[in-house]
Amino acid sequence: MYIPEHCPNPQCENYQAPPGTRWYRKIGQYHTHTFGSVPRFKCRSCHTGFSKQTFSINYYSKRELDYRYIIRQINACAGIRNIAHDLQVKPEAITNRINRLARNAVLANQCIVDLLPFDEDLVLDGLENFCVSQYFPDNYTIMVGKDSQFVYDCDYTTLRRKGRMRPDQKRKRALLEVIFKASTKGVESSFRRLLCSLSERQPERELPLILYTDDKSDYERVLWNTKEFKERVYTGGWRHHKTNSKEGRNTQNPLFPVNYIDREIRKDMASQTRETVQFPRNVSNAMLRMNLYLFDHNTRKPYRINNPVKRKLRHAQAAGLARQDLDRITKGFFEKRFFRKRGQSLSESAMKTLQRQWVTPLREKPERLWKYLDA
Ligand SMILES: [Zn+2]
Repeated sequence: MYIPEHCPNPQCENYQAPPGTRWYRKIGQYHTHTFGSVPRFKCRSCHTGFSKQTFSINYYSKRELDYRYIIRQINACAGIRNIAHDLQVKPEAITNRINRLARNAVLANQCIVDLLPFDEDLVLDGLENFCVSQYFPDNYTIMVGKDSQFVYDCDYTTLRRKGRMRPDQKRKRALLEVIFKASTKGVESSFRRLLCSLSERQPERELPLILYTDDKSDYERVLWNTKEFKERVYTGGWRHHKTNSKEGRNTQNPLFPVNYIDREIRKDMASQTRETVQFPRNVSNAMLRMNLYLFDHNTRKPYRINNPVKRKLRHAQAAGLARQDLDRITKGFFEKRFFRKRGQSLSESAMKTLQRQWVTPLREKPERLWKYLDA
């Protein structure tokens, strides 16, 4: 017999670790075409009604698709339309399933980060692409462990189109900018958000934490113009190390961890490949997909391919997570709908991704937050 794990209402006392099985009542069942008979329950404390489906990754969906197949395809450079064609569904159905997995990925990654010791240095860098059209280039800033290549967090910003343009392209840019103009401080804001969440989480450590970046002046401005960060640099808690972006991109380069992940992303994700027709059309979907990819990198890809011992390790373990914790956190990833732990602090970027708060250029209405994500 199915036993619900907890009440789905975050305000209820039975939301986390309810006692025994006396906290709910069984109130019958309903029949669905896809999932058969589904038992229904009611919480004795807050009287919220829920069913077995509330805790399933298929909550609110009318059709079962193979999640493992979808993630394998999407992380092997397949386009959403290709996958939809294979499974004989609409492309929207695939995006919907990717977003469900991605939501689990964001929550699980935060659980992992909460357990990490932060005893390695960090590398931060941006990956440029575009969304909607070439007139809206963008930048994904990722924060990576220098030794573990574990991706701690990822942020996003739209940039202003720069570089050489023909006169007609300049006119078009001016026209588009009447509707949407990217902030010139986008990279700074992205970097600041990442450092804020780092500053909140990072425990005390004896040696200074070194932040490796390239020589973009945006990074330096954030460090020196934010009181909290400036203090950390002054007191020796943080150190900033800049690398000239012209330097050879080999393993000796301090930015190797991000260069390596950039290369992996370009290789594995159709939407991030250069000169492609499969570019993202919606920023919130793009960020969900990116988070799903990075989670897969953190928890499933071998830490090192050529070393028989390190081959068994995952990047999350290299960053200091115990194997049993990794197994516990990722358990049920493809079957369960993950819930946010009570009181769990999420990074600003993770919050924006979960709530679809990223702004897509030229989009008139704000994003609709569908019920599944609103938890
Ligand atoms: Zn309840």
